[in-house]
Amino acid sequence: MNTDLVVVGSGFFGLTIAERCAREFGLNVTVIDRRSHIGGNAYSENEPQTGIEVHRYGSHLFHTSNERVWEYVNRFTAFTNYQHKVYTSHKGEVYPMPINLGTINQFFRSSYGPDEARALIREQSAEFASTNPENLNDKGISLIGRPLYEAFIKNYTAKQWQTDPKDLPAEIISRLPVRYTYDNRYFNDTHEGLPVDGYTAWLERMADHPKIDVRLDTDFFDDSQEFSKNNVAGQVPVVYTGPIDRYFDFSEGELSWRTLDFEEEVLPTGDFQGTSVMNYPDLDVPYTRIHEFRHFHPERDYPRDATVIMREFSRFAQSGDEPYYPINTTEDRERLLAYRPAIKAEKDVLFGGRLGTYKYLDMHMAIGSALTMFENKLRPHFAGTAALQSGSAGDDE
Ligand code: FAD
Ligand code: UDP
Repeated sequence: MNTDLVVVGSGFFGLTIAERCAREFGLNVTVIDRRSHIGGNAYSENEPQTGIEVHRYGSHLFHTSNERVWEYVNRFTAFTNYQHKVYTSHKGEVYPMPINLGTINQFFRSSYGPDEARALIREQSAEFASTNPENLNDKGISLIGRPLYEAFIKNYTAKQWQTDPKDLPAEIISRLPVRYTYDNRYFNDTHEGLPVDGYTAWLERMADHPKIDVRLDTDFFDDSQEFSKNNVAGQVPVVYTGPIDRYFDFSEGELSWRTLDFEEEVLPTGDFQGTSVMNYPDLDVPYTRIHEFRHFHPERDYPRDATVIMREFSRFAQSGDEPYYPINTTEDRERLLAYRPAIKAEKDVLFGGRLGTYKYLDMHMAIGSALTMFENKLRPHFAGTAALQSGSAGDDE
């Protein structure tokens, strides 16, 4: 077999592994992807009528405080100085999101300073004082009090997850900051920006190496193709970034995922909503948010009489749907644990990425995790100092 490593999946995790192994060790790396484009969920393309860059799988905002990742990604692209801000439309009124002093004062028709606002929220979250909430419902109320939770979080979360917030892990909501200032930046990270010439140019540069062979429209479970699971077994090491349960034929049961449906529309106006993302936290609106892509690149010369919007709908993934977000209920976590012995026992196969570890990973986390897997597992193996230790990204992080 004329390859030294097979990487399943050309998302950020797979491409980081491929790039490192090709560049550092001159290995022949074959990257396969069942989709007809590279880049996994970070892929973007220009909408043909308007030339506006559309993130095919929902808005992707790059942000990180990890210096190692920041240095690495800057090898492939420069970043704009875009800073993400989100607004939310509740009962016919638009508020800044995440919840900050502006949201609090608008909602309560007040002019509290930071200390007064803190005191109010403390009072409104008293029911969870000195507890350590482990589910999204209790954590949400403990952070912002019941009235704000019910207006902005409860129904949005119900639409997005279709799971009782009491059954969702607290971490989902912990991602959103709550601020007692008027700062309404969505992210807290040191570095933030969008790739100057788009995500796909960035992803293509990562794969652009004479030793990297990318094969699209190629499913790892299709034995009619050269690099399928059964054909490569025992022949060549594999880094697998597809769904973990699928790899083992769902032997311990299916993990639950959320999928998204996107409804795209070109509108004859230069600006539809005045901002890049508007959330809809009320139940009478079926979608969770509307993305308007021109606002991600105010520096670009986009048409002034047309815009592209995308409404995002969320639902449980059925078989055949793209798995986007791990739901991570208690049963899911038990199932994932049940897969661990098989993961450890699978010789010469490493599992990584959002699907391969069943973990919510932002782009910088997927890249950081791949860099760690390269350093801790692949480098020693290909430098000839250690046998390949099978397992999953995160085992030794
Ligand atoms: P993926 O990008 O999912 O790549 C996995 C690849 O494996 C896919 O291309 C898939 O086709 C391929 N594959 C799966 N099974 C097989 C098979 N059997 N055979 C061959 N190929 C296979 N991150 C941020 O940092 N900021 C954001 O704003 C942000 N927004 C997001 C919004 C949405 C809606 C989603 C879904 C994700 C968002 N992310 C964001 C996360 C980001 O997409 C991920 O961090 C990143 O895509 C992870 O890369 P990955 O390589 O692990 O997985
Ligand atoms: N969330 C919410 N209301 C909002 C925005 C977010 O309730 O207006 C909750 C929701 O449960 C969501 C979580 O916060 O899943 C994390 O939000 P984020 O914007 O990070 O979600 P993502 O962009 O990853 O879908």
